[in-house]
Amino acid sequence: MKGPSYSATELLARLVSFDTTSHKSNLQLIRFVEDYLLQHGVVSQIVPTADGEKASLYATVGPAAVPGIALSGHTDVVPVDGQLWTSDPFIVAERNGKLYGRGTADMKGFLACALAAVPDYLKRQLAVPIHLAFSYDEEIGCLGVRPMIAEFGGRLVKPRMVLVGEPTSMSVVDSHKGPVRWHVEIKGRAAHSSMASLGVNAIAVAGKLLRELSDIEHELKLRPQDARFDPPYATLQVTRIDGGTATNIVPVSCRMDFDVRAIPGVDISAIDRRIHAFAANVCLPEMRKVAPEAAIDIAIANQVPPFSAGSNSEVVALALNLAGQNETHAVSYATEAGLFQVAGSPAVVIGPGNIAQAHTADEWIGKDQIDKCSAFLARLGDWAEHGSAVR
Ligand SMILES: [Zn+2]
Repeated sequence: MKGPSYSATELLARLVSFDTTSHKSNLQLIRFVEDYLLQHGVVSQIVPTADGEKASLYATVGPAAVPGIALSGHTDVVPVDGQLWTSDPFIVAERNGKLYGRGTADMKGFLACALAAVPDYLKRQLAVPIHLAFSYDEEIGCLGVRPMIAEFGGRLVKPRMVLVGEPTSMSVVDSHKGPVRWHVEIKGRAAHSSMASLGVNAIAVAGKLLRELSDIEHELKLRPQDARFDPPYATLQVTRIDGGTATNIVPVSCRMDFDVRAIPGVDISAIDRRIHAFAANVCLPEMRKVAPEAAIDIAIANQVPPFSAGSNSEVVALALNLAGQNETHAVSYATEAGLFQVAGSPAVVIGPGNIAQAHTADEWIGKDQIDKCSAFLARLGDWAEHGSAVR
């Protein structure tokens, strides 16, 4: 089947024209991609949200039931609100070899290159299929890729390996930190502040938890460090706190959030157990002496696993080979790679554009980066056609 052939730059302009800010629907973009693939005879599988407002797309070029290599990316972008743009963020504008627009770097540039490569992949006799795995809601905690991964091994063939095309300037990233966010709700008992012994001060309890969290933060620094990260250890930060109602009332409630940026090897469940145990054994017994209804709820609100491809990773070796490089990198921002890796699909991060331009006003990608990525994906096609011969 001969569908339309567009350049990566033309496809990028189309993808950017859909305002897929995370809080909006991405369906128009998904329908465009589904349509484009269908015109080439490639049928997509759609994984919609429960309310049908958003969807992931999964498609396979080449032999259908064989685990292949997935080109993975998120379709959502961060908001432009409050940012000063020189030109319309949803119309790609070219100035001095740079393509400006929301999502050009993060990461519609990669999606465009992947889609532009499809006609070439279809001409080849691929031995290893190439999957397209496009998600949503990545920017708000890597949420959208999870239901798609949950269907691996069922409705969707589970990829043998995954290339996550976040902007790395086309260098090979084999590790990143994993952000984990906790939400804490402390419920004490209100009382007149002159009769403090009748109340349970939720802010004072938060103070105890803060001290324990600060101990954990300190201990994380003392653990074996990983010099590839900056900073080279896991961080813990209390990021929000809110409590009390008036200056003369013992505060009945206090809420706080804290965030750990874990390096690979840090045991998140151990941190979770420790803070739960501290609340249950140190804080609660005292609180309940006065107020039996006192409570402390601690829950992980969002978690992206830290990512480490490991030293014997087939996909890292392949990415290095195709990119003509011999050195891998570690980054501090999170991607969907950790989730793929945990699900048993070894991943690597490599994509066009620079993370420094992501999320900014006047976000841009260099045309040279688009060309570099397209050449990389063409070499991937060679590899997929001839099996492991390229290695
Ligand atoms: Zn991104």
